[in-house]
Amino acid sequence: MQDNNKVKEYDALVIGAGIAGGEAALNLANVGNRVLLIDKDLTVGGKMIMLSKVFPTLDCSACITTPKVSEIARHSLITTLTSTEASDIVQKDNGTFEALITTQPRYVHIEDCTGCQLCEEACPVNVEDEYQYGLVGRKAAFIPFSIASPRAAAIDIENCTLCGACERACPTNCIDFTQTVEKFMIECKTVIVATGFQLFDPTLIPRYGYGRFKNVITSMQMERQLAPTRPFNTVLRPSDGKIPDNIAYVLCTGSRDKTVGTPICSQVCCMYSTKQAQLLMGALPMADITLYFLHIRAFGKGFNEFYAQAQSMGVEYVKGKVAKITEKEDGNLILRYEDISTGKVTETEHDMVVLSVGILPNQGITGLFKNRKLELDQFNYISQSNPLESPATTSIKGVFVAGVASAPMDIPDSILSAGAASSEAANYIRQLSVKQVEV
Ligand SMILES: Cc1cc2nc3c(=O)[nH]c(=O)nc-3n(C[C@H](O)[C@H](O)[C@H](O)COP(=O)(O)OP(=O)(O)OC[C@H]3O[C@@H](n4cnc5c(N)ncnc54)[C@H](O)[C@@H]3O)c2cc1C
Ligand code: SF4
Ligand code: SF4
Repeated sequence: MQDNNKVKEYDALVIGAGIAGGEAALNLANVGNRVLLIDKDLTVGGKMIMLSKVFPTLDCSACITTPKVSEIARHSLITTLTSTEASDIVQKDNGTFEALITTQPRYVHIEDCTGCQLCEEACPVNVEDEYQYGLVGRKAAFIPFSIASPRAAAIDIENCTLCGACERACPTNCIDFTQTVEKFMIECKTVIVATGFQLFDPTLIPRYGYGRFKNVITSMQMERQLAPTRPFNTVLRPSDGKIPDNIAYVLCTGSRDKTVGTPICSQVCCMYSTKQAQLLMGALPMADITLYFLHIRAFGKGFNEFYAQAQSMGVEYVKGKVAKITEKEDGNLILRYEDISTGKVTETEHDMVVLSVGILPNQGITGLFKNRKLELDQFNYISQSNPLESPATTSIKGVFVAGVASAPMDIPDSILSAGAASSEAANYIRQLSVKQVEV
């Protein structure tokens, strides 16, 4: 472990480099503030960089994310650190903060890595690829995905056998197994929490068979199959690599369901499922797509039209509560559901089922702060202390929240929320400089 004793100074610390954190960092830097943007992952971009297209415009998600990501990387006032977390954040009497920053070793010197992937080719170890949500494998020496930022290799030390093949293959000698954890202190004037969300774990609803039936996948696994950085060149069902021709979606998997501890609506599942259904109609013109839903929440601008467009393309919407999924010998799946329009229990067969999993708050965020309490709301999202007048304010003066860290929301709302957080943070920085803050 290395301890760098010198304290680094920034105007703002932004925790989480998804679309919300990235946008907040850019806004603050564009008005002259020095920003430290950190993400615990190997790459910036959060979930958005992994998506296919976005509702309701069907614009390419990566085409919107990558220019922002490169603007962040090039900005002279933004320092971006991946594999990095903050802890022990303390607010001082003058309203500023200090924090301990910890960067995990990547075992690759990013600045010297050309992204040539020769280490990947040489590495003999195959493990599940978390960036493709387990649909394919990756090596222990790997680049997360082609548009990752930084586009640099990393060594998955948990699975590495230390055979040295990657080191021998690397033309720039940038693999370094002596790298250790780096820790250093920073001082900053404001903190933006943009830690986003996690996905509902569908194994918590065993009757849907996720993890037991290969052809039951999550919406994020379908998202990856439809994305430009997809694992296969088409959509395949996992059990036998067959192109599916009859796909079912089960909406509200882990949303609006008190029995699994997620009482609220995830806001995006109806629309992302409708988006995926339209993309599937384009990718697999002969396929039948059925969405089983309880209520369709098409509340945003153009959303209802987007829903109507899917129906006119032939996507079938069935108002029905799916009780159980069972598997046939050929890998096909039987959905047993109550058809709400007729009140009858019905069974249908599909060759693939997509669970439209909900959004959950990330855990452990309150523990980042030491002498102040970052309060959560009743749903465990970061509490907005003044949601009507100033939705980015939290229970700690000078700490602001952006994106899904405060509530489920889509990308445009995450960007708006980042705008609110960065403008409040810039104002707080200005107030500190004229010493108007009482904490
Ligand atoms: C399957 C699916 C499809 C979707 N499709 C669409 C769509 O078509 N259109 C649309 O508008 N929305 C869509 N969404 C919603 C969209 O993904 C979110 O609105 C958006 O990603 C929210 O961005 P965020 O930055 O708040 O969170 P995230 O994308 O979750 O980013 C948070 C970042 O914080 C990092 N982080 C977390 N904790 C810490 C920590 N302690 N320290 C450091 N870093 C941390 C994470 O690694 C991550 O990079 C979809 C969502 C899903 C699940
Ligand atoms: S040293 Fe580890 S990462 Fe490198 S090639 Fe061998 S197994 Fe792969
Ligand atoms: S670590 Fe070396 S071999 Fe691997 S991508 Fe980077 S430069 Fe290429």
